[in-house]
Amino acid sequence: LTTRTPLIAGNWKMNLDHLQAIALVQKLSWALKDARHDYGDTEVAVFPPFTDLRSVQTLLAADKLALVLGAQDLSPHESGAYTGDVSGQMLAKLDVTYALVGHSERRHGHSESDELVGAKTLAAHRAGLVPMICVGETAEDLAEHGAAAIPLAQLAAAIAQLPQGATFVVAYEPVWAIGSGQAATPEQAEDVARAIREALRDLRDDETAAATRILYGGSVTSQNVAAFLKQPNVDGALVGGASLKTDEFSRIVQFRK
Ligand code: PEP
Repeated sequence: LTTRTPLIAGNWKMNLDHLQAIALVQKLSWALKDARHDYGDTEVAVFPPFTDLRSVQTLLAADKLALVLGAQDLSPHESGAYTGDVSGQMLAKLDVTYALVGHSERRHGHSESDELVGAKTLAAHRAGLVPMICVGETAEDLAEHGAAAIPLAQLAAAIAQLPQGATFVVAYEPVWAIGSGQAATPEQAEDVARAIREALRDLRDDETAAATRILYGGSVTSQNVAAFLKQPNVDGALVGGASLKTDEFSRIVQFRK
């Protein structure tokens, strides 16, 4: 039997300078230390901007805080003449565990192609990071192709170059639900999560399909998180806006309460 540890991930996007980041992580860790028995084995990850990673890493190491670090993006390259880019190797040195790849704000705001997302997924793996592959359909895609077609195509492209046996996380984030306050229903999330797991059986193997964590993202709040996590194929949540508020995020982490 494969157990998929629940994962709650907070994507801060382009918010909080390094002092604000320190303050938020300190408050969050105090809140979560008190609540440890209420969220059990749930893994909690924060994805600060690059400029905050070093400060947050130092804080986590000094206090032995039970939070893990993620990066919001990475370069497909290891090093060299890529002005403004940050490599997976640099992130791994800062004890970063996860790297988001293919977030809709990168696909749409920076015209990132499926090929580039695939290259970044491979780069994350090669650097020893776990890629958190974001997939999701726009409102137009939904009307035209239904919910699952685009996420499945994006996933296939993202893992095409990834070696067999590599670990990754999939975050299903309907683009129309991100930052809109209009979350998918738990049933909609489950339908696509189940389709993703079934596709992983073909794209990889039964073991990978059973072990891979699939998150839902898109206007998750403390009010709706439990209903998503109750779905058999939803193993966690990728949280944007609500991850910037300590009380709200710590309530989301304690979704079982
Ligand atoms: C996100 O940034 O991945 C996200 C889901 O944002 P929000 O929770 O604000 O919709």
